[in-house]
Amino acid sequence: MSRMVMGYWDCPVCGNKGIAGNVMNCPACGRARGDVKFYMKGVAENAVLEADQTGNVEYLSEEQAKDFDAEADWYCSFCNSLNKNRAAFCSNCGATREQSESNYFDQLKKRQEQEAAEAAAQNASAPRAKAGRNRIWLWLVLIALVVGVFTYTNGNTTKGDLLVTDISWSREIPVEDYREYQEEGWAIPQGGAQISKSTKLHHYDQVLDHYEDVEVQRSRQVLDGYETYYTYTDRGNGSFEQVEHSRPVYKTEYYTETESRPVYRSVPRYATWYVYSIWRWKYARTATASGTDHETAWPDTALQENERESTPRTEEYSFTVESEKDGRSTWTLAEADWRNINPGDKLNITTKRTGADPWITDSDGNQVAQIRRK
Ligand SMILES: [Zn+2]
Ligand SMILES: [Zn+2]
Repeated sequence: MSRMVMGYWDCPVCGNKGIAGNVMNCPACGRARGDVKFYMKGVAENAVLEADQTGNVEYLSEEQAKDFDAEADWYCSFCNSLNKNRAAFCSNCGATREQSESNYFDQLKKRQEQEAAEAAAQNASAPRAKAGRNRIWLWLVLIALVVGVFTYTNGNTTKGDLLVTDISWSREIPVEDYREYQEEGWAIPQGGAQISKSTKLHHYDQVLDHYEDVEVQRSRQVLDGYETYYTYTDRGNGSFEQVEHSRPVYKTEYYTETESRPVYRSVPRYATWYVYSIWRWKYARTATASGTDHETAWPDTALQENERESTPRTEEYSFTVESEKDGRSTWTLAEADWRNINPGDKLNITTKRTGADPWITDSDGNQVAQIRRK
């Protein structure tokens, strides 16, 4: 069921407010009702009211309702005054209704479109140049930072005229021997001989024992009834229509359910634990050779009957330089480069700030050999 509600309008000419929807001329200035937008008192535009919130709604009596037509009012094209639907002539200037083509809603739509276009135009012309300039500054600072870091970490330091005082080399070969060991475990590996065995706890299995009933609390939503709410429609004739709607209301219902749940028990599992003896090759010693000249050789491993060579072989080649300013330092390098270095040589060594490996440079600054501090 719908009910009618009184609408109001404000005079666009003199600013007089709250003139009832069925009053056709402004009581203050006498002008005919023109470009207006109807509103209600006590109900906001687009309001959705609950059944208990309609206390301020100003309903029309049956007698009052007769004063409003079902259709929207029409605008006179000559004097722009808003006339009742039933009026065949403009109450203001007397022009006929046939000569006019827009009604209240057409005019309202036109006005709203115009306002939206004006708002859009205002937004588009808002200043945006400031943000752009800030971004350019940010880029400049970033580029300066990157260039700075790059220059700093690339910085090289060359120390020249370092006197080579010593060269040295060393080579190593690991040696294994074959011996009998005592070990234990869940199984004897191939080649092992059992010494003793015992039974020990290996792990627990979870075994289904029985099921038990458990009470479980559950809830569900059930329909509790319907409630009424209202919306309001502008009829375009100085009144509004209250439209009744209905929506379902739910409540939470609690209930218990019996559920069957499995109950497990832990069952110990046992297994045989072995103590056994086994012959194995294992690391025993390292054979080393070294010297302070270029006469390199691999060490004599002097293998016993139960020994063999292992891996990996290692080798190291180094030289020591000295200067009054920096003292002594020892460096390692590849064998081929090391063979070109002799005691009494003078070297230049270049180091990088990043901590990357330094290198030997010739008199023209060219990289000759990569080296590493020992
Ligand atoms: Zn007025
Ligand atoms: Zn007129």
